[in-house]
Amino acid sequence: MQLFGGIEAGGSKFVCAIGDSTGNIKNRIVIPTTTPNETLPQVIKFFQAAHDAEPLAGIGVASFGPIELDRNSPFYGYITTPPKPGWGQCDFLGIMRKAFKNMPLGWDTDVNGAAMGEYRFGAAKGLDTFIYVTIGTGIGAGGMVSGKLMHGLIHPEMGHIFIPHDKAKDNFAGTCPFHGDCFEGLANGPAMQKRWNVKSATDLPANHPAWDLEAEYIALAFANYVMTLSPQKIILGGGVTRRKEIFPMIRQKVVALLNGYIKSEKILAKIDEYIVEPGLGEQSGICGAIALAEAELKNVK
Ligand code: ZN
Repeated sequence: MQLFGGIEAGGSKFVCAIGDSTGNIKNRIVIPTTTPNETLPQVIKFFQAAHDAEPLAGIGVASFGPIELDRNSPFYGYITTPPKPGWGQCDFLGIMRKAFKNMPLGWDTDVNGAAMGEYRFGAAKGLDTFIYVTIGTGIGAGGMVSGKLMHGLIHPEMGHIFIPHDKAKDNFAGTCPFHGDCFEGLANGPAMQKRWNVKSATDLPANHPAWDLEAEYIALAFANYVMTLSPQKIILGGGVTRRKEIFPMIRQKVVALLNGYIKSEKILAKIDEYIVEPGLGEQSGICGAIALAEAELKNVK
């Protein structure tokens, strides 16, 4: 069976792993994200050792961003203008290509990577239009439309949509440096910490009003995604969702907001199977990075 490398490149850590096309992970390491000059040589060393032991058929990268995904751009494979200092205009894929000449290298966003993992091995198997949403320090979403990972002009930034903000009910200004009270600004982990003055959102007790408000913002965003993308499923992951009690609240609010307008049994009768946790738990990203490598190999053949 062919072996692939996968890199889940995040703003705080890089997860690097070797796996196969069944989603089986054989070997993995975690490297802290410091600077490209420090982090990337460690990444390369790991894969070179693995490749020397048993040849890899490709490496997939699911990266924090924003990143350049246009294969016709001279900046394809770059991390472009990230909030993370030191990583602006980083030619991530170019550095990998120098180390692994002729190796197929898959490249996509972290959230599209996680979506790909769920598509190949998890909760989105057999679907062709779905989204994967993560809510943690940031809010991001990726996914597929008609069997293709969503790219477009740059790539979707579904965390930064504008949702109704009732300032009489919640006067918190929001955390987004660009928009203030966009969805991410109102509902990311730091927004919960600042609004309720706690170290971590998960410290808030289950009966705290924070959870109802959080579920409301998530449901408003999800109702918009249902109307605009018509996903067959919404997969929700990330730190905030470790609080499982938020799922039934979100589902009930989405159904109420849509108010019978979307006439699908998946929403009207089976919402529990429509808004779901990731099938792979916290492994969606790394399994997806491996699936990106496999897809790239098929692409170049
Ligand atoms: Zn924003």
